[in-house]
Amino acid sequence: MPIDLSESEQPLSPDILVKDGVVNILLTYSNTSLFQSCRWKYWVRQVRCLTPKHKEAVFSIGGAYHAGIEEYHKKATTPLDDAALTLAHQVSDGLLSSDNISAIDNSAPTKVKAMIRGFARQFSNSPYEITNQEMPFLEKLEDAPDFEIDGVKYEFWLSGKIDAEMKHKPTGGLYLGEWKTCTSFDDYMCKIRQDNQPWQYLIGYYLKNKVKPSGVVYRLAKKTLIRQKKTETVDDFLNRIAEEYDTNVAEYFKEEVVPFDAKRADRHYNHLYDVAKELKFAFQNNLWTRSHGSCFNYNKPCPYMSICKTDNESDFDMIASSYFTVKPPNEELIEVPEGG
Ligand code: SF4
Repeated sequence: MPIDLSESEQPLSPDILVKDGVVNILLTYSNTSLFQSCRWKYWVRQVRCLTPKHKEAVFSIGGAYHAGIEEYHKKATTPLDDAALTLAHQVSDGLLSSDNISAIDNSAPTKVKAMIRGFARQFSNSPYEITNQEMPFLEKLEDAPDFEIDGVKYEFWLSGKIDAEMKHKPTGGLYLGEWKTCTSFDDYMCKIRQDNQPWQYLIGYYLKNKVKPSGVVYRLAKKTLIRQKKTETVDDFLNRIAEEYDTNVAEYFKEEVVPFDAKRADRHYNHLYDVAKELKFAFQNNLWTRSHGSCFNYNKPCPYMSICKTDNESDFDMIASSYFTVKPPNEELIEVPEGG
């Protein structure tokens, strides 16, 4: 359905998607990936703003790890600051208990704390120094295929959030930093080098600051695959997780760099224009095709499967109110930069 700006209860975030009566379509890395994977899922998440009430443990653990590292960097005054680590652990524990993940996976708080501690230890001697962190960008995509529906203007904006800005100490070179978790360093970096993600950050940073970074530094943390033994108590298992990270820190953490490449950046810029044209078509024609080939991506059922099965409006509303909650997308980007 076309977006009705006259409805006071329309669910779009006024700070982000609708600003001064203009619908800002945000081209973030995850939005564009979502749209390319399944347009119907994009519509239900980004336009109808529905998100499943049930939160997956894996996302909460990743979020708690990320928030802990952010807190650590804010508070640390020495390369390996124990007081800052304690504060970071409090943040991750708080998030995991508020999401009730600790009750589902009692090893989650220990794993996350061990990962934050390992991150701080492993990268305390890195040649890359953090100079700024948590940097959102929101930049108008110039010459984008903006359009109007029923007198309402739709514009395309390049958007995202960069974990950190970094300086390569030996050369003074400017880099961007990203903190990620994975199960295999090689597989993850192979995917990242093929992926659009580093180019989204590099272009976003360049458009906002008019300075070209030399690359993106990926600080990777490998998730442990150890499981509780039948003969082991919970406490012994939790101790073994902490010990595993503490004694094998170099095996669990790695720094990899994706260097800037002008041709690859151009390719990503063109890709953004392609996606913008496809989005324009979808909005103008109100055509949100379901991609059934994506229903079991990563061997997991799509979290929107229950609501996707119905074409009946009253069933849709009933499922939406029972299993989903209305939440504006892109809340992490709500700090709207200048010009936004
Ligand atoms: S269940 Fe499949 S078709 Fe439906 S929204 Fe998810 S990915 Fe798309």
